[in-house]
Amino acid sequence: MAQGHIIPFLALALHLESKLRRHPNLTITFLNTPLNIARLRSSLPPSAALRLVELPFCPSDHGLPPDADNTDALPYPLVVRLLHASTSLRGPFRDLLLGLVAGGRKPLCVISDIFFGWTATVCRELGIFHAVFSGASGFGLACYYSLWVNLPHRKKPDSIEFSLPDFQEGSPVHVSQLPLTILEADGTDPWSLFQASNLSAWADSNGILFNTVAEFDSVGLSYFRQKLGVDVWAAGPVLLSAKSRRSTTPSRPDGTSPEQCIAWLDKKPPKSVLYVSFGSMNTITTPHMMELATALESSGRDFIWVVRPPVGHDINAEFDAGVWLPEGFERRTAGRGLLVERWAPQAEILAHGAVGAFLTHCGWNSVLEALSNGVPLLGWPMAAEQFFNARLLEGAEVGACLEVARGRSGEVRAEVLREKIETLMGETERGRGMRRRAREAREAIQTAMRDDDAATRGSSVRALDEFIGAAMSRRAESR
Ligand code: UDP
Repeated sequence: MAQGHIIPFLALALHLESKLRRHPNLTITFLNTPLNIARLRSSLPPSAALRLVELPFCPSDHGLPPDADNTDALPYPLVVRLLHASTSLRGPFRDLLLGLVAGGRKPLCVISDIFFGWTATVCRELGIFHAVFSGASGFGLACYYSLWVNLPHRKKPDSIEFSLPDFQEGSPVHVSQLPLTILEADGTDPWSLFQASNLSAWADSNGILFNTVAEFDSVGLSYFRQKLGVDVWAAGPVLLSAKSRRSTTPSRPDGTSPEQCIAWLDKKPPKSVLYVSFGSMNTITTPHMMELATALESSGRDFIWVVRPPVGHDINAEFDAGVWLPEGFERRTAGRGLLVERWAPQAEILAHGAVGAFLTHCGWNSVLEALSNGVPLLGWPMAAEQFFNARLLEGAEVGACLEVARGRSGEVRAEVLREKIETLMGETERGRGMRRRAREAREAIQTAMRDDDAATRGSSVRALDEFIGAAMSRRAESR
């Protein structure tokens, strides 16, 4: 029920739909809440194989704003309330499955989000094969999971590094890499209570399907194999095409259109533009915006910056350059900087040859979209598993990222940001190395997704075939 989850799920549904075409009796049902389904229904082309079904959900019954079927306009502190509210879907979900079973159409498999552990319990009860689908990296999710199941972490002194629970060797993290929700969790707060029941229900699932690539994300995958003893399939990246992507997000008739963004990029030299975006939910503080703007201006580089209202402002607030940005910033950077309000056509931007680097919060979808295009990263992780994604990306496995800042509240200095932009994009040895590693990651992704003939099928294609095979053999056994 957040764009970073709906987008990979829709990508997976469409990918499976095309893969399963040779099985004409199979259909895919995409379940979500009414507002999200209505949006998809009005924009996705009708398909006999992909059914869109809504489960009843009324945000105001749970003390949420009326349009909180997703997190698009939800202040971050209310996200946990939406998560608790989502457990109310359990009854209608079970009824839907029971109806299918009674009609002789028992589902082959249910694939559900990492936040809907209760679906695994319902499926186990009804004897239906179930997989958790993670749009997060294997490593990121392993760290995140391990921290939640080993609470509390409050007493950690903030100046030292400590080992992640369950990862005793070679994985020290700094306290500033702990998401605030985890750092503050004491086992009785709303996040702790939600995760305690959510994560324990994963044990009822048959396995975890990851939108990642085994070749550069193996540690986290092994963690789940060992820790939960379940099957793990790395079948990514499945990415949503630009056309389908427009169906998931609200259009903004007043803002910069996708066509304007691309036309702007068309005029720029290859690999010259820095793209800046912190995903669909995160924002930075006003002082951070000032530092970032100063760094972008002094870097002398071309940039596209997707601007969202800073922390503390209404998430729906009108763009206010006078308050959020240094005086005269827009005028001084006119022509070489494009400010896009709130939402940009990110997949198209990252696929454009003019983009040379991406300053990102390290959300895993953003990372996959960048690496699929060989775009190196400047990391500014802010929440959830993003800190661990940044570490995976900086480390030997990927090596295509330079962390520039950490968290929503830490100190950020324009001069340091400018230097790091120059290190990655300029003619430095380190920058050349990271750019090369980003191209290698693109090659690894292309190899993993190769699906031409049986002898050269890539690891991700094989994993998805194995996953489908596991679901089918389970059905055959239960007949
Ligand atoms: N996205 C986009 N335009 C924007 C911001 C985000 O298209 O201006 C898309 C982005 O391409 C990605 C998703 O929204 O597919 C964000 O997911 P991610 O995992 O990167 O971060 P999250 O938003 O979940 O923190």
